[in-house]
Amino acid sequence: MQKFPPPQMYTVKLSEKEVLNDKFIEFHFELVEPNKIEFIAGQYVSFIVSEKEERRSYSISSSPKLAHGFKITLDITPDGLGVQFFKNLEFGQEVKVLGPLGNFVLQDEPKEDSIVFIATGSGVAPFHSMILDLLQNNSESSTKDTRNITLYWGLRHAEDMIWQDEFQELAQDFPRFQFHPVLSKAQQEWPLCRGHVTDCVGIHDLPENAGFYLCGAKQMIADVQKVLLKRGVQQEAIHYEKFD
Ligand SMILES: Cc1cc2nc3c(=O)[nH]c(=O)nc-3n(C[C@H](O)[C@H](O)[C@H](O)COP(=O)(O)OP(=O)(O)OC[C@H]3O[C@@H](n4cnc5c(N)ncnc54)[C@H](O)[C@@H]3O)c2cc1C
Repeated sequence: MQKFPPPQMYTVKLSEKEVLNDKFIEFHFELVEPNKIEFIAGQYVSFIVSEKEERRSYSISSSPKLAHGFKITLDITPDGLGVQFFKNLEFGQEVKVLGPLGNFVLQDEPKEDSIVFIATGSGVAPFHSMILDLLQNNSESSTKDTRNITLYWGLRHAEDMIWQDEFQELAQDFPRFQFHPVLSKAQQEWPLCRGHVTDCVGIHDLPENAGFYLCGAKQMIADVQKVLLKRGVQQEAIHYEKFD
């Protein structure tokens, strides 16, 4: 059984805002009080985003190694309360955040030899944290995780993609990591997977002893689950986090 760090109310301040493209902005927060956070890759934080104290949740996309701050990666296209709140945040502005929350974390399954991550849109955020943790931090860990890792990530256009270079470099440096971006509105020249993630997951060879982690819109999760179950994956091996 995983031991989850207890959630706390943090005061944090915005230290950096990185516009990654027209779809995604990354927000870096520095902890003010308490000044240290412990979380498990895949967990999220909850911000109060309005005067009526409405909340929105955001997965931590940075590595758990960052103990004095964290990053969240926002899809700005919904443009609702949450997105407006972050767009209006000023550098150095202090805000309250509750975390870490959630139990969408890697299961410790000694029988598994592979992990398959399947995301659409901002659903890749918790996987970014998990992948960094598995590939970069894990080499120092005493309980070294050697599972093969595959990431399927669905987006509409090539221009929507972030972290492409980073994922490709990781795939070069760590042969046990494979990255499959999937575009539903790809240009003619796009050489990789086309369509929806379900199309690729439906036809690619899937590892036998794998844990499947799904994150993004609930419709995608329902569709991918159907495909996986049809292909003989056991329900217990499927873990998911719905973003809407
Ligand atoms: C556990 C958890 C972790 C999350 N992590 C992230 C994250 O790392 N990055 C991130 O960008 N979002 C994340 N989300 C989604 C986030 O909490 C908000 O729901 C989302 O940003 C929209 O909020 P909003 O207030 O801007 O829009 P709202 O005012 O809630 O909605 C505005 C419009 O956008 C639609 N909408 C709502 N949510 C989404 C969505 N996720 N994608 C597309 N359209 C949507 C609504 O149907 C509505 O039409 C997470 C959600 C959960 C539950």
